[in-house]
Amino acid sequence: MTRFTKLLLLTAVGLIIFAACDEPLANAILTVDTSRCVGCGKCEEVCPYGAIEIIDGDAVIDPGLCHQCNRCIEVCPEGAIY
Ligand code: SF4
Ligand code: SF4
Repeated sequence: MTRFTKLLLLTAVGLIIFAACDEPLANAILTVDTSRCVGCGKCEEVCPYGAIEIIDGDAVIDPGLCHQCNRCIEVCPEGAIY
């Protein structure tokens, strides 16, 4: 195998892994504890995938859009997402 072929192969593998990681995780289910959520919207603002919406004063996560990046967990001042 030539050096060029190896490079090509590694690039292809890298692209496949990247594409796989960019998909929403089918079983990415986070919980919003509505007894803690104050509806501040910080999680909605920080979510890069538009997976969170504030509905009737509580954050609601769409598991079909969530990529489990955990940014909402980190930003929530109430510890309401886990
Ligand atoms: S950041 Fe936390 S408290 Fe604020 S809306 Fe989201 S889940 Fe609720
Ligand atoms: S884990 Fe990331 S993608 Fe999922 S809802 Fe929170 S901020 Fe959005």
